[in-house]
Amino acid sequence: MIAIEDKLGRRFEKLRISLLNSCNFSCVYCVSEDFSDNSVKSQKKSGFNEQLRVDEFTSLIAAVHRLTGIKSIRLTGGEPLLYPNLIPLINQIRDIGISDIRLTTNAYYLKEMATRLFNAGLKAVNISVDAVDLDVFNKISRHSNTSRVFQGIEAAVKTGMKVKLNAVIMRGKNDSQIIPLLDYATNLGVKIRYLELMKMGHLYHAENGSFFSEKEILEKIQTKYDIEKIQREYAETANYWRTSNGGVFGIIANESTPFCHDCNRLRMDSNGYFYGCLSNAHGEKLSPYIHNDFLLTEKIKELLHLKQPVKFHGSELSMRNIGG
Ligand code: SAM
Repeated sequence: MIAIEDKLGRRFEKLRISLLNSCNFSCVYCVSEDFSDNSVKSQKKSGFNEQLRVDEFTSLIAAVHRLTGIKSIRLTGGEPLLYPNLIPLINQIRDIGISDIRLTTNAYYLKEMATRLFNAGLKAVNISVDAVDLDVFNKISRHSNTSRVFQGIEAAVKTGMKVKLNAVIMRGKNDSQIIPLLDYATNLGVKIRYLELMKMGHLYHAENGSFFSEKEILEKIQTKYDIEKIQREYAETANYWRTSNGGVFGIIANESTPFCHDCNRLRMDSNGYFYGCLSNAHGEKLSPYIHNDFLLTEKIKELLHLKQPVKFHGSELSMRNIGG
């Protein structure tokens, strides 16, 4: 394997895959008010209609693994628990020689699936939970039964897999939930990460009035707890703090504290398009090159060069397509 590296010394070490772009939730930050970006029809119109099969995913993963040595895969979406062949896919990724397999989910179906996923080799799960208050959570997710998310979280913790919680914080929508979410996570013994709202998909051209900054999140937490910063690790997406009662929380602050300088992520969507950067909507199909290492290396280099050097700008692609 040759090192495919850019001028900043960045490499692709992690691959994030959107297994499908549909989801049973329609969270306000992901789906526009008129739902126009959440219908199968609109996905078909924009060419997002060629859902990959397990063997197609695995042949692409194997080729990229061979040339870049990627060590870790995150399965996401859309909602990855809706992908019908999730367990066979996990088994086949392990057969390629990648054992660090993680998942990002809304946890709606996790109660039923947690043990099977853990037994298949899933190491860690990130669960999106935007509020403890169910009325607030239902409004954000536009779903009427978000209590199942908490059952899913607790089932995952019980298996022994690593669990982290993710909450996108929006002014006037769920900033009141910052401390309740922290207390819930701390009582459960898991880390929570707050995300600054990103200008993705329908938010790309919108006024960012709901934006709630890292600084404001910290101020809110400090009304209840003293906090101490934890040293950031290489390629971490979040900065972490420890609270005076032993909780640990992170903030993914793409706007306030971008982490582009050591970003090591490559992304693939459910149609087999690869993306080098969350801030660049240009996708590249790698399937024509998987049997030609020279051309595949050139294509991977091109994707690496698309990475922003210092700052996140957002993109017209929604997270459900590019894989959040
Ligand atoms: N359905 C799964 C879930 O809910 O976790 C996986 C896909 S979801 C797109 C992955 C992550 O992207 C979630 O943590 C979600 O909160 C985040 N996300 C989506 N759009 C976002 C935006 N505009 N700004 C910040 N985070 C966003």
